[in-house]
Amino acid sequence: MNLFDVYPINPVAITKAEGSTVWDAQGNEYLDLYGGHAVISIGHTHPHYLKRITEQLAQIGFYSNSVEMPLQRQLADLLGKVSGRLDYQLFLCNSGAEANENALKLASFHNGRKKVIAFKGAFHGRTSLAVAATDNPKIVAPVNETDNVVFLPFNDVEALEHAFTTYGEEVSSVIIEGIQGVGGIRVASSEFLQKIRALTTQYGAVFIADSVQCGYGRTGKFYSHDYAGINADIYSMAKGMGNGFPIGAIAISPTITPWFGMLGTTFGGNHLACAAALAVLEVIQREELMQRAAELGSYLIEELTKFTAIREVRGRGLMIGIDLPEELSTVKRDLLAKNRIFTGEAKPNVIRLLPALTMTKSHADQFLEALDERLKEF
Ligand code: PMP
Repeated sequence: MNLFDVYPINPVAITKAEGSTVWDAQGNEYLDLYGGHAVISIGHTHPHYLKRITEQLAQIGFYSNSVEMPLQRQLADLLGKVSGRLDYQLFLCNSGAEANENALKLASFHNGRKKVIAFKGAFHGRTSLAVAATDNPKIVAPVNETDNVVFLPFNDVEALEHAFTTYGEEVSSVIIEGIQGVGGIRVASSEFLQKIRALTTQYGAVFIADSVQCGYGRTGKFYSHDYAGINADIYSMAKGMGNGFPIGAIAISPTITPWFGMLGTTFGGNHLACAAALAVLEVIQREELMQRAAELGSYLIEELTKFTAIREVRGRGLMIGIDLPEELSTVKRDLLAKNRIFTGEAKPNVIRLLPALTMTKSHADQFLEALDERLKEF
């Protein structure tokens, strides 16, 4: 059988990794500032993570959700503490799309309504409702098409107010990334998030904070929406949660009616996934990684802003977008080919940095020097 080649392939095969360093099959060393698309939160092959997972696997890797799951309770407890939301309830699943799918459904069960407000440039996943709320018609199949989702311009308070005046109590939920990732690292303004909070409360709609990419401490706060000083009704998360082990979740505020029977999945919250997620949170706490992400992120953003060739630097903490003029769209490719540095991209001319929160200042300096070298070529 041939592989169904669905991904644009980079010719490098990564076969080994440690922290922010990865090696290819030939033994060449690379600096990883992509983190497998914001998934590697505590660095590759972190010793505590390895220990926790291997010990768990030797005990039991999987049973099923039909028995008491102490590890799920531990995880809920620790996630409540680290995120500062002890009164939320945790539901565990396997991916970001599944988390958003459940968040949107739960909201609709909660208030019995159908309309979803989403934003231009949004990415929420590839399952039916998540994809319907994603601003990319190319990945919406006819079966996913729905009039229930309304797309509004991002960060536009007036358009939001107008939508609520128009749809009022038909609105089931508003879903928004604190920082749009796939959309090009665009930060939701505090004013905008506060307005969403006020209007969803006023109209009885559910505020869903998609924290799949921007969450889990990456921006210096546990959820990037926290910068606005608000509480969302549901937070979805995945990527950084398992540091590569597939796990996703929604954190549900006490204001939402619990709908027993609606939520469920075979693999969600299995022993091994919980051990991985617990190891990640323990490392985030012990190594004070949120603070580190905030400090290193500020340093990088400040230094990047000094480059005159860069059109705009956007982001917070270790979620950074470097917006280059169109003619410099080969820089990302050259950083890999000539400097052996992995970065991500949003559009060809927007470099996305989504490194492990354990990266060091010398990694940051290595990147800044390499970028300087590349930009001087133009
Ligand atoms: N939400 C956001 C903000 C994302 O960036 C992504 C993945 N790029 C998803 C949801 C979907 O996550 P997954 O690929 O784990 O389904």
